[in-house]
Amino acid sequence: MYNTMHGSYTKDTNFFKSTTPFDLINEYGSPIYVYNEDVFRQRCKDIKHLVTYDNFVPHYSIKANTNIHLLKIAREEGLHADTMSPGEIFMALKSGFTSEELFYIPNNATKEDFEYAISHNVLTSVDSVEQLELYCSLNPNSKVAVRFNPGVGAGHHNKVVTAGKKTKFGVNMDEFEAVNQIIEKHNMTLVGINQHIGSLFMHSEAFIESTTCLLEFAKRFDSLEFIDLGGGFGIPYKKQDGEAPIDLEDLGKEMDKLFKGFANTYGRNIQFQIEPGRYVACESGIILGQITGTKKNADTMYIGTDIGFNVLARPMMYGSHHDIELYTNDIEYDATISPYTVVGNICESGDILATDRMLPKPKYGDLIGIMDAGAYGFAMSTSYNQRPRCAEVLIKSSGEVQQIRRKETFEDLIALMQ
Ligand SMILES: *Cc1c(COP(=O)(O)O)cnc(C)c1O
Repeated sequence: MYNTMHGSYTKDTNFFKSTTPFDLINEYGSPIYVYNEDVFRQRCKDIKHLVTYDNFVPHYSIKANTNIHLLKIAREEGLHADTMSPGEIFMALKSGFTSEELFYIPNNATKEDFEYAISHNVLTSVDSVEQLELYCSLNPNSKVAVRFNPGVGAGHHNKVVTAGKKTKFGVNMDEFEAVNQIIEKHNMTLVGINQHIGSLFMHSEAFIESTTCLLEFAKRFDSLEFIDLGGGFGIPYKKQDGEAPIDLEDLGKEMDKLFKGFANTYGRNIQFQIEPGRYVACESGIILGQITGTKKNADTMYIGTDIGFNVLARPMMYGSHHDIELYTNDIEYDATISPYTVVGNICESGDILATDRMLPKPKYGDLIGIMDAGAYGFAMSTSYNQRPRCAEVLIKSSGEVQQIRRKETFEDLIALMQ
């Protein structure tokens, strides 16, 4: 048995089922990424059943978490997959997705990138007029999609707002004629148009506004087989402060209305797609690590952990908030809370997981849990400071724990230099 000194998400959701944070760390090392299959499947189902419109094909944007075991589950749940690079196409195919179930949406692709997708029969979306010319010259008499910029963006940080005037993404809608000319010149069919406005919106307004705009624009093309509205569906990172989840039911209803209205005017039940990454993977994953101690420097109290920005980059990169839980083996502990800056073990002052977080005082040997780390967590981790990348385990619906990626070793660190 163990006690949770702070936080209740893993207790409330029975996240660990019959195992415990201490058992997991003892068995697989620290730190460690832990996923819960039930939560992951549920999020896939939420997305799969978002609307009632019958020609709806949601894609999981696999860059959020590319573990092959999770990809297999997403496919079992009926999702297709979005890929951003040849490596992601490779991983998706390895995990069982067929070429027809993949969509390739690269940014600043090279000829070699496009050729990889072409040779694997993966439909591609291009991101600029020049890229369209390049792609069409490599693969004439075929099908292509174009990513347009609807002029409306959204997101949790300006680094992840991917539409509107201040981003490198998408073809401007006023380049319609140039797009058409290239399509005709190479005898192509423009089968799809797509957008992706940014990452992590919690309210539907910007999404509905940009979608309305894209649909209006879509009427100018008569060859479309699908319209892809992108990802960005948010999750509540501040659950401990009572943050509510995005209202998917309401969003689904609004989307249904737009889809049905468009199908009526367009004259056929065109396919609609979305591409959520974070929503599918985020809440199914947490990171467990060890407390290495506490200390006071000037007026700041620090909690030390073995979770540096090599393990979780988001707080350092975007200033992101992740809820924190603390676990102890002690039967009794002091529950008094005070403000702490929670830091990792990397040799940089920016290596901060959380600032001014109200927590009880842990001690060496207690454990920390970082919530909502299933998306852009392991996928963005590195071996900086020669810390081997950590293991990933899956707590299956049956309760069984399966290691889905082993911890890297020192030998792995040197393997490619030999
Ligand atoms: C990253 C990305 C997504 C997924 O974004 P989330 O915020 O994780 O839902 C979808 N589409 C494109 C084109 C992307 O680049």
